[in-house]
Amino acid sequence: MIILKTIAATQQFIVAEKQTGKTIGFVPTMGALHAGHISLVQQAKSETSLVVVSIFVNPTQFNDPKDLEKYPITIEADTEKLVAAGVNVLFLPSVAEMYPDEASKQMPYDLGYIDTVLEAAARPGHFKGVALVVKKLLDIVTPNKLYMGQKDYQQLQVVRKLIADFDLGIELISCPIIREPDGLAMSSRNVRLTGEHRIAATELSKALFKLKEDIAKQTPPSAKESAKQHLNSHPLIDVVYLEIVNGHTLVPISDVNEAPDIAALLAARVGGVHLLDNIILKP
Ligand code: AMP
Repeated sequence: MIILKTIAATQQFIVAEKQTGKTIGFVPTMGALHAGHISLVQQAKSETSLVVVSIFVNPTQFNDPKDLEKYPITIEADTEKLVAAGVNVLFLPSVAEMYPDEASKQMPYDLGYIDTVLEAAARPGHFKGVALVVKKLLDIVTPNKLYMGQKDYQQLQVVRKLIADFDLGIELISCPIIREPDGLAMSSRNVRLTGEHRIAATELSKALFKLKEDIAKQTPPSAKESAKQHLNSHPLIDVVYLEIVNGHTLVPISDVNEAPDIAALLAARVGGVHLLDNIILKP
């Protein structure tokens, strides 16, 4: 695995590889890698001939500076995992090069409705930072295919819009959520969950699995309310949002026939940790 730390070196390397006919699969991450990230790498390896992973803890997507400070950094272990997974290129850009001045931190483009609801409402500015860094990374890496996790459902829709609006011609591949054996969606933040909070966190996926069963016999609003009440009755869980939405527009739905794709999106705070999970209800 080759490790590249500057934008210029990465661009040069990729241009040369593309000239030899390679197709580029790209997996952007913030490090603290777990099996969820590695599943994206494996899918990229099976579909493209050169796999590039980036690790960059993007400051512009953290609306809470404390969350940025607490973000786990495990670069040595990450590097070992990526070598073992057969990654070709690890791109480690610096904050100084990605954001050379204040102007470079501004997001000039409006993401519209999807940047006003759910996670966007809970973390103002978060998706502007995500879209900004993903656009910069895509311009540098110029992948044929971009691999991202369904775990961050709203992020996927933001990036889908970014690719369409800028006509980037990159295929976005949504990869399924990898879970712990007890159902908790894997996340770099899970290391901050200990003892009773780690146990409480399993209620999130349980509630979503039950919601998927309930939706066959209840309307979306009533299935959603009972899942929300069940979760909020737990002393260690605070639901930030739980919505059943049109899977593309993220507009809440009240009838399962309203949209061809339907998903339930959930965020909750457990022991001060902001956890996300979701489930596709249709198709
Ligand atoms: P992050 O490092 O948290 O920015 O995540 C990098 C990529 O890994 C994103 O596309 C995430 O959606 C994806 N990812 C994170 N957790 C999981 C998971 N449990 N299963 C599948 N993909 C994941």
